[in-house]
Amino acid sequence: MSGTGFQRGGASRRGVLAGMAAGLAAPAIVRAQTLFVDTPFQLGVASGDPSPDGFVIWTRLAPRPLEQHGGMPMAPVEVDYEVAADERFKTVVAKGSTLARPELGHSVHVEIAGLQPHRPYWYRFHIGRERSLTGRARTLPAPGSALERVRFVAGGCQNYEQGLYTAYRHVAEEDLDFFWHYGDYIYEERATPTATDHASGLPIPPIRVHVGDEPYSLDDYRLRYAQYKLDTDLQAAHAAHSWWVTWDDHEIDNNWASQWDQDGTPPEIFNLRRQAAAQAYYENMPLRKTSFPHGTAIQIFRRAAYGDLLNAHFLDTRQFRMDQPCGDNFKPVCPEALASDRTIMGAEEERWLFDGLAKSPTRWNLIANQVMMMPLDRRYADQHEAIWNMDSWAGYPAARKRLLDHIEAHDIKNVVVATGDEHQNYAGELRSGGRPDGKTLAVEFVATSISSGGDGSDLRKGSDVILANNPHLKFVNDQRGYAVCDVGRDVWKTDFRVVDAVSRPSAKIATRASFAVERGAPGLKPA
Ligand code: FE
Ligand code: CA
Repeated sequence: MSGTGFQRGGASRRGVLAGMAAGLAAPAIVRAQTLFVDTPFQLGVASGDPSPDGFVIWTRLAPRPLEQHGGMPMAPVEVDYEVAADERFKTVVAKGSTLARPELGHSVHVEIAGLQPHRPYWYRFHIGRERSLTGRARTLPAPGSALERVRFVAGGCQNYEQGLYTAYRHVAEEDLDFFWHYGDYIYEERATPTATDHASGLPIPPIRVHVGDEPYSLDDYRLRYAQYKLDTDLQAAHAAHSWWVTWDDHEIDNNWASQWDQDGTPPEIFNLRRQAAAQAYYENMPLRKTSFPHGTAIQIFRRAAYGDLLNAHFLDTRQFRMDQPCGDNFKPVCPEALASDRTIMGAEEERWLFDGLAKSPTRWNLIANQVMMMPLDRRYADQHEAIWNMDSWAGYPAARKRLLDHIEAHDIKNVVVATGDEHQNYAGELRSGGRPDGKTLAVEFVATSISSGGDGSDLRKGSDVILANNPHLKFVNDQRGYAVCDVGRDVWKTDFRVVDAVSRPSAKIATRASFAVERGAPGLKPA
């Protein structure tokens, strides 16, 4: 362990110039005159959860991100922030200071209010002479205002070891109203320095390696986030756009479900790990106070309206779900899966979604969802029985039927489901009762991963069988990238954007396929 990256008094073993805050006794607030040996803003900035008059701005101080406490002293540190109407900060519209506290990993979440709707703002942080990079945020349109267009990206699944974040560099260059992260922001896997080639099984040079073992404690998760957030492509995507974030499984543990992990850990013990992971998630995301962790719980299902055009319903399909049935993973159907009380959202969130859809006044409804909703027979060869992914909505068919019945009963003809988790692109139709041959009620776009799964190829082996067995599935692709959704008044267009590689830098982006949905006539059309 080397010295702290933050110099107080003259005690530095490195003999670096001492700060002028000398003499301040811990736990006094450390003020702006203090000098850092290394810049404390190495993890970038972010904005999120926009409202018509503001948004959250975020940063986390870490002069030595991979060292204990990120190289910060165990004291609250004062951070100044400013928000401007222009990129050069000539017209500052909000400023102040806040405390980065050790209890929250020296993260900063400032809720800005009182701004104009539907326009960009620029923000940055200072501590004395240290200045963060500049981020751009965007307020929501005024409620109910007439809007011609909303453009957003669905993306997520960013396993650090499996690929570079080149896709994020391209996200930063997209013209967007918002970025939605569907989950798997970190992966909790231990470092795997010996990579092997999928096909040959022979060792290959790893692209990059996780620091340390699988995280369990709060400090473990903080370290994992710090490593991910050092990536400048990811920082660029945060700095360029306001984000809506939701989590999936890997923010805590693969395929967790409510209080159950996949290893049969007693719930009261797994809950200790959940609590650590939930706090680290809050600390590292641009979330509002309304998402502040309480024990294991974080409120992250929430809604945002983009004028009269789009209502976005952001789901949390992890925190309140029943345990996966039939032994989890890809399995033949067993009676447990078919129980009528299966729930993936829990009663409260389900009611919230159903009410929100029934009362939604906007021209479109986005269900921002984590795991695949459409029923998909996963047989990729001549297996005898249908195979379902029990971690997706396939493990909760009664919940899927309730939602589709609700959409059908209320004649809601403008629903688009966007999803992640699969590490592949898919486009398909959601049909009456969840039956592949029912009447089409809504469509689902599954956005591929930013990096998880490595370079990939156009079609994974067996995908032709899956396309043939699932008539409601219209498209599948196994490259890395993200989905751009361009929402107009009458037509919703989705572009599946893919990079040609994640194993080497500077890969190009291209649109692999585009689909259109006409408002009032659910179904997929090539665009
Ligand atoms: Fe993933
Ligand atoms: Ca996942």
